Amino acid sequence: MEFKNYNRIKEEILLFQEHHKRKISLIAVSKKQSIEKIHGLINYGHLDFGENYVQEGVDKIKSISNPSIIWHFIGPIQSNKTKLITEYFNWVHSVDRLKIYDRIKNEANSLGKKINFLIQINISKENTKSGININDLDAILDGIDPNDDFVCFRGIMAIPSNTTNINLLKTEFSLLNKAFISLKERFHTVDTLSMGMSNDYLLAMNHGSTMIRVGSKIFGERI
Ligand SMILES: *Cc1c(COP(=O)(O)O)cnc(C)c1O
Repeated sequence: MEFKNYNRIKEEILLFQEHHKRKISLIAVSKKQSIEKIHGLINYGHLDFGENYVQEGVDKIKSISNPSIIWHFIGPIQSNKTKLITEYFNWVHSVDRLKIYDRIKNEANSLGKKINFLIQINISKENTKSGININDLDAILDGIDPNDDFVCFRGIMAIPSNTTNINLLKTEFSLLNKAFISLKERFHTVDTLSMGMSNDYLLAMNHGSTMIRVGSKIFGERI
């Protein structure tokens, strides 16, 4: 199996890191992609994968059953799914209310399992998208325990407006980066700004992203 775009993205990241002295991690978004393709990318040495749907993700995690893989949950969260998410995933990018945080914290503590999480910001303000309004961030932060042994607050995630308007994307990425910078001052554990997908990852990297989530550009169209 060949992943030409994957190799190209890795090269782009290496060049960027050299030039900007800032590390970027790449999450391969494998939702609606076959197990065979995921195995193909694992054979390239890739370890970070993102899934959006709990049952699909859990089925793949069980089937692949490789403890070196780091699984990122990046989809909307229903509170009755927090137990499965905590049991099978390592990162959760889409925490958008304290109820979800509290449930993940309790599950992680009872499993004795470390979970890294991000708060999802709805930067486009489209009500079809999950996440909190950026102005409501402070309210949720007051409920977060930065010293919990198992649940570690690492930063924020966002999906920008679905647009080709570069200026709008730049505005949204800049607002997110500003929020990220002030979070880093308040929480010693914060080091992650998860933004940038197949069509905008270079722009996102240039606006402070530390983690990009790329699906179709690596794997091709979803099934
Ligand atoms: C699907 C998805 C991605 C990847 O999207 P592509 O455009 O295929 O790169 C990234 N992040 C989230 C939250 C997604 O749902």
